[in-house]
Amino acid sequence: MSKSAKWSPKEDGSKRLPIYQHKSKLIQAVRDCSFLVVTGETGSGKTTQLPQYLREAGFCKDGKIGITQPRRVAAITVAQRVAQEMQCTLGKEVGYQVRFDDCTQDTVVKYMTDGCLLREVLADPALSQYSVIILDEVHERSLNTDILLGLIKKVFTDPAKATKGRSFPLKVVVMSATLETDKLSAFLSNCPVFAIPGRTFPVTCTFGSAVGPKDLESTGYVKEVVKVALDIHTSEMAGDILVFLTGQSEIEHACDMLFEKAECIDYRYDVTDQSVDGLLILPLYGSMPTDQQRQIFQPPPPRIRKCVVATNIAATSLTINGIKYIVDSGFVKQLNHNSRVGMDILEVVPISKSEAQQRAGRAGRTSAGKCFRIYTKEFWEKCMPEYTIPEIQRTSLTAVILTLKCLGIHDVIRFPYLDCPEERFILEALKQLYQFDAIDRRGNVTKLGELMVEFPLHPGLTRALLKAASLGCQDLLLAVAAMLSVENIFIRPGHPDKQKEADKKHRALAAKTGSMNDFATLLSVFQSCKSSDRPSAWCKENWIHWRALKSAFSVETQLRDILHRLQQKKDFPVETFDGNKSELFRRCLCTGYFSNVARRSIGKVFCTMDGHGSMVHIHPSSSLFDQEGELNWVIFHDVLATSRVYIRTVCPIRYEWVKDLLPKLHEVDAYELSSVAREEVTAEEMTKWESREAAKRQSEVSDEDA
Ligand code: ADP
Ligand code: MG
Repeated sequence: MSKSAKWSPKEDGSKRLPIYQHKSKLIQAVRDCSFLVVTGETGSGKTTQLPQYLREAGFCKDGKIGITQPRRVAAITVAQRVAQEMQCTLGKEVGYQVRFDDCTQDTVVKYMTDGCLLREVLADPALSQYSVIILDEVHERSLNTDILLGLIKKVFTDPAKATKGRSFPLKVVVMSATLETDKLSAFLSNCPVFAIPGRTFPVTCTFGSAVGPKDLESTGYVKEVVKVALDIHTSEMAGDILVFLTGQSEIEHACDMLFEKAECIDYRYDVTDQSVDGLLILPLYGSMPTDQQRQIFQPPPPRIRKCVVATNIAATSLTINGIKYIVDSGFVKQLNHNSRVGMDILEVVPISKSEAQQRAGRAGRTSAGKCFRIYTKEFWEKCMPEYTIPEIQRTSLTAVILTLKCLGIHDVIRFPYLDCPEERFILEALKQLYQFDAIDRRGNVTKLGELMVEFPLHPGLTRALLKAASLGCQDLLLAVAAMLSVENIFIRPGHPDKQKEADKKHRALAAKTGSMNDFATLLSVFQSCKSSDRPSAWCKENWIHWRALKSAFSVETQLRDILHRLQQKKDFPVETFDGNKSELFRRCLCTGYFSNVARRSIGKVFCTMDGHGSMVHIHPSSSLFDQEGELNWVIFHDVLATSRVYIRTVCPIRYEWVKDLLPKLHEVDAYELSSVAREEVTAEEMTKWESREAAKRQSEVSDEDA
């Protein structure tokens, strides 16, 4: 075993991790083969240690080691940790890159999101800068990781293509926490699997009584997890608590409640374990500031119990030491393509049983633990699926299909997917790209499509931005695109009085624009803050997250740079606008959002116009929430499902603006778009597809009748 590590001796505990005993064998395994699957319990050291081992063993000689993560926070915190272990400045030898935040400079160990690597593939399909690519957290089955897997299989398992554009062969390591390793190995030419034996301790799981099959729609789980966490704190022995909730607002709400209740504990009488006399409450979610994230990993002060309230990120991506108790809400927030509604909807859904087991396992890393599930056994049996469906089978594929097309992969139906998405999802994506003018009737990428793929934004937003740019009013859309790319900018305080005050300020901001239009409000907030002498004070006064706005400023600059670069091309589109100037902004938005159009049906109910005709409501956070009367047609940015299906970030429009753009789905031949030559589609397949489509339309009609 090599002992030449420059930065050792290490005192960071990394030698105590299960992976350490397998160091030399692992290095040898990577040397010996082009593809390797590595599996091991979460927390065994895969993410933080393997890249360091490979670096030490000289794998950075020819190129970088790139490690992908499905989650942004994971990429950042892990890079921080590794930089600390290697005793170097973050961003130098070890760095990270996530969307709109590049912290790399002569970096050889680069952590990044899978989305970032996918963008790099676009620019350099041979990945010529890398000597090793590690796809991490593959079990999460994120859309981008799945696509990367397919691309790597397509290019690098084919000896004829593998060395094209490269002077040395690429090593690929695929890391996964769970079972599916045989499947992964089979997918990658039956490559070897390296299993790191883990050690885990038993975790006792108990079911609760608060959430049953009838409670799918209620949000009572927030209150319940708070109650259970407090019960643990007062009646269980010392040891930290990890609470699994769904998203930022629920987590902040729960932390507020916990804080309030914990204040009232009298530690002389109320707690069983007298060695505990305080509770440290820490939130953990995706868009949190990084300095706050760092706290999560620090051991609590003596006599204090730590309670982390987290999203699913703490299930596998990040390991917090010292956790002895789990509180599992049983829910997760997921972006799902809802085929009944025909849209991607952010919704709270029950987790899968395998996910629940993973969550519970977090309590048994260093000693026996306990997991308190707030849901009933019946809920487990009736509402929770066995496994989580891979993202590729449940979200919109528009952006990745455009990426594949731009990589010259025309037959997107027969791309090597680890699990195939439903064909109709692919066809839907193709239709949408066609409607954006990103591909032509033959399924070939257009000039506009080549421009669109350059932006790390939703294709619709990109389309609107490019329209604005072609009309010379990009400033309007750059700011809006930036604002929609950062975390929520409006502060929502937990206290009802404060909430009223914040609401009032937010309504005033919306009214200031003179039009009830949430996009215009975002633009106005951006501009007012930017032009203010004391922007942070301005934010505070208006109940706006200053941190989010700072990110928005940075994102806007980056988008502007991309646009500027593209505008240098001689065939960048230029158009003129002969309509009413006051309509310009909304007309640009319509170019990108015409598939998100809704018409007032009755009262406060709107009906989407995408061929699905789903019933939606305007979200209470919108300035249009209480508008009646004139408001008949609207476009919206996204959809959220709680007790109802809500549309968020809404803008009133006129029917004339979209009538020519409204999807004419039946007019395009989706198979033609898929570049499957006409002859290759048998008449039988075509008939099958047509009758399926017809049946779908029929069932939607009857759904509405019901
Ligand atoms: P795996 O990838 O196998 O799940 P990791 O490499 O992520 O394992 O974690 C190995 C160990 O490093 C864990 O004990 C974890 O707690 C620790 N660790 C990871 N990131 C941090 C951090 N930012 N601060 C402190 N400890 C960390
Ligand atoms: Mg890991």
